[in-house]
Amino acid sequence: MKSRWTEHGASEAVDRWGGQFGEAVALRLYSARLIGADPTLVLHGGGNVSLKDKLRTRLGDDADVIYVKGSGADLATLRPQGLPAVDLAYLRRLRCLDSLTDEEMINELRTHLFDASAPTPSIETLLHAFLPQRFIDHSHADAVLAVTSQPDGEVVAREAMGDKVAIVNYVRPGLDLAKAVVDCYEGDPNIEGIVLLHHGLITFGDDAKAAYERHIALVDACERYIEKKSRGRSLTPLFHSKEEPPTLAAGIAPVLRGLVAAQTGDEDRPYLRSVLEWRATEEVLAFVGSSEARKLAAAGPLTGDHLIHTKARPLFIENPQWSDEEGRRRRLEHAVDGYRHEYKAYVSEHGGPADQVDPSPQVILLPGVGLFCWGKTKRDARVTADIAEHTLNTQARAQAIGRYTGLPPDHLYDMEYRALQRMKLGSAGERPLERQVVVISGGAGAIGAAVAETCAAAGAHVAVTDLDEQRLSRVVQRVEQRWGAGTVLGVTTDVTSEESVTAGFDKIVRFFGGIDVVVPNAGIAHVAAIENMDVDDFRRVMEVNATGYLLFMREGIRVLKRQGLGGHIIINASKNVFGPGKDFGAYSASKAAGHQLGKVAAIELAPYGIRVNMINADAVFGDQETPSGLWATVGPERAKSRDLSEDQLPEYYRTRSLLKTRVYGHHVGNAVVFFAGNATPTTGATLPIDGGVVEAFPR
Ligand SMILES: [Zn+2]
Repeated sequence: MKSRWTEHGASEAVDRWGGQFGEAVALRLYSARLIGADPTLVLHGGGNVSLKDKLRTRLGDDADVIYVKGSGADLATLRPQGLPAVDLAYLRRLRCLDSLTDEEMINELRTHLFDASAPTPSIETLLHAFLPQRFIDHSHADAVLAVTSQPDGEVVAREAMGDKVAIVNYVRPGLDLAKAVVDCYEGDPNIEGIVLLHHGLITFGDDAKAAYERHIALVDACERYIEKKSRGRSLTPLFHSKEEPPTLAAGIAPVLRGLVAAQTGDEDRPYLRSVLEWRATEEVLAFVGSSEARKLAAAGPLTGDHLIHTKARPLFIENPQWSDEEGRRRRLEHAVDGYRHEYKAYVSEHGGPADQVDPSPQVILLPGVGLFCWGKTKRDARVTADIAEHTLNTQARAQAIGRYTGLPPDHLYDMEYRALQRMKLGSAGERPLERQVVVISGGAGAIGAAVAETCAAAGAHVAVTDLDEQRLSRVVQRVEQRWGAGTVLGVTTDVTSEESVTAGFDKIVRFFGGIDVVVPNAGIAHVAAIENMDVDDFRRVMEVNATGYLLFMREGIRVLKRQGLGGHIIINASKNVFGPGKDFGAYSASKAAGHQLGKVAAIELAPYGIRVNMINADAVFGDQETPSGLWATVGPERAKSRDLSEDQLPEYYRTRSLLKTRVYGHHVGNAVVFFAGNATPTTGATLPIDGGVVEAFPR
């Protein structure tokens, strides 16, 4: 590992922040970001830094303060607002206390801030406050964890890093750790850093560069030590699969998603679902397929900080050779049930609320398939997967230089249930479709795109499929910009091809883990009187609108059943089904077919808790951003059939409705959200979205 400090970068930071916040704060931010930018040093909000400085108060006093990373801030993007200032003299006096609970500590920190609206300072603030140096850097570097996660971690750490460091045994972050660290420092004030076994590294200095470069030098020493000691030793390959990991993952993901879903006891919202992040890099596959994998998976986590994302242990499913789909389901079910049972026992053993926790595994290791990580959102699942991947790689390196030894078991429960650690995850109020995955065909069209955006706004993850790759990528970009990376997946799909539809759903379940709501929507139209209908035109419309709906539903049903969590099919039919118009025979017949398929599906799927409903919308013309492709094709001739000019059409449709209102794509989206939210016990029903058209009243 090399220092990334450059004089140019440092002076840029001073130019950016120095004027307003002072040079010390600017350089503090600069080196914090250098540490944050390297995922082998810190991951997702891990690690923290501090600076001791003066702060002019409103009365003109110069107070001694410590600027320390706030909870929830990320070193990689740290800004002045993420470095709350706390009363240093007061914090130092806390050293005389015998104990301080997390809640008490938060109270002491928050009541001694200089800005009442600042974020809560890190749980490791006291450690920074008690040490005398001006700049302190703290990371959870992979290489330091690999070196110290050994039965004789102290000896190995000393061998790797020499005598410029002191070594402290594992103590939970808080007052006790802060006292242990400062005692240790006072015992040998010449040290440049402190190694915390099963936790990380602290370095310090009187300027930002010294603290940072000492940090990097010590991590580099660990990396060199690992390289020398492991001499290319690696894990022993054991498992070989005949099938490719992506094929296996597509079959397994929905089954696992069903199994890890938490039951709520609420009839209208019976499951809390999760979203998947699947990883199958060469290193991950080598780990999960090795003869050491089972033991390493059971050996405990690298450090306490990770537990809130990963739980104490992953579920390792040994030798997943299954004869058939049913055999596979039984094996997975048995494994997940076993894990849940053990987890509940572990919680009640420690006097915890076993019936209030979600006992399902967060991380699942499958030989030949890879790593499955689950979260409330794709983003959460990715954070968990990043931590899990670093854990596997670090465990493998630790094993290569000795014997990996995880965080001692007596610390696990304590860390997992700490209020402070929990706070890091945040808890936003859930929107109606949170944790759900909605799949829409024709997702690049006026209605499809609006459905995708409305569902995303309701909290769903959305998979949009379409034949038109360019338009599709614009929709994906728009949803992503608004709702964040990972909330949407675009899949180019031809709904008339069985292979294409199957491949599309496989891609979706590998990305999200499964699906909850299927919206067949891709459609085309053709204008011709029956007398003049070209049979090829008729077949083309039927192929997309009727057969396309069938194929999309069929594949969706297969995934929904594999998952076993119920679900929804919401068919975008048409006002035409009940209220047809002349010269629109092909379209009306094809939409009636889709509508009828929906009614049959409602009967067939009720036993599985899958509800099927239809939406009959009148003409949706789209907007400038997503104009309706369908109306661009048939508009001129539809206008002709009605003796109108093309631009009079939207007004014609508006005024013929009872409510004199235009129908927009987001109205269809709202209906999807309504059905998918299980607001009413409804299946086999049709919801008109047409402003009220008397001829289209159901009868
Ligand atoms: Zn730490």
